Amino acid sequence: MDMGIKGKKALVCASSKGLGFGCAQALAREGVDLVMNARTEGPLLEAAEKIRTETGVDVVTVATDVTTEQGRAKLLAAAGQADILVTNAGGPPPGMWSDWSREDFIAAFDANMLTPIALMQALMPGMAERGWGRVVNITSQSVKAPIPVLGLSNTARTGLTGFVAGTARQVAAQGVIINNLLPGIHDTDRAIALDTGVTQAQGITMDEARAQRSAAIPAGRYGTREEFGATCAFLCSQHAGFMVGQNVLLDGGGVNATI
Ligand code: NAP
Repeated sequence: MDMGIKGKKALVCASSKGLGFGCAQALAREGVDLVMNARTEGPLLEAAEKIRTETGVDVVTVATDVTTEQGRAKLLAAAGQADILVTNAGGPPPGMWSDWSREDFIAAFDANMLTPIALMQALMPGMAERGWGRVVNITSQSVKAPIPVLGLSNTARTGLTGFVAGTARQVAAQGVIINNLLPGIHDTDRAIALDTGVTQAQGITMDEARAQRSAAIPAGRYGTREEFGATCAFLCSQHAGFMVGQNVLLDGGGVNATI
């Protein structure tokens, strides 16, 4: 299926690895020029070169922290009149509800709620003026089914989801389509970090931790960044123009719910 977005320009945040990389690669395969971002320059340059070599699209890299105001200013300068925005950043650390301080909450809100909101506020007026835009926010399955040890994530991402629910309906008539993509367990560094937490908490090996978490997924395995990226590319495509403010779960069936 032709996604109809060849020649568009996308800002894909936090994209040197993992799910952000999967989204950048899938968009590039559709002929979309990219601004890619991560904090660490080396892996970012390598990721950009891999995508350039494979697809031939134009890729600009901005090594900066997307959760800071200065970082976002650099990214927005490079993004110019981007047609597509994919928001992403690292997830908050796990912990216990009684231990989190005000500062911990503010850091989670900054990274996983206020940063995507600020980027949407900066880029969507231009999209609306030009009559076309797509926004995909990478959130988490924890929005639909809370993961107790990830309370900071549950809280901040649900706030973002509330913002999107209303705003998506305000900009849709101008051709700007916002949706959220909710990963379940995917095979990325983040999953390895969470598996490591399980090994420490339960005194089991990495293989055991992975088998235990896979067993909780009806598909029986972790998701791949390629699958995630392909879904993102669809949400950014011409075909997604009537899909407004949805929360699309990609979790191998992990969230046990009828709707
Ligand atoms: P990952 O494999 O660890 O990759 C994270 C990417 O984001 C890297 O490129 C990293 O590069 C970049 N990054 C992190 N913080 C950044 C920042 N402040 N500014 C700019 N770039 C930043 O993680 P992932 O698995 O793709 O996860 C992506 C998001 O999905 C996270 O928020 C995670 O919590 C959420 N999620 C993941 C899963 C899963 O199973 N993988 C499940 C549910 C939710 P640098 O470190 O160099 O900055």
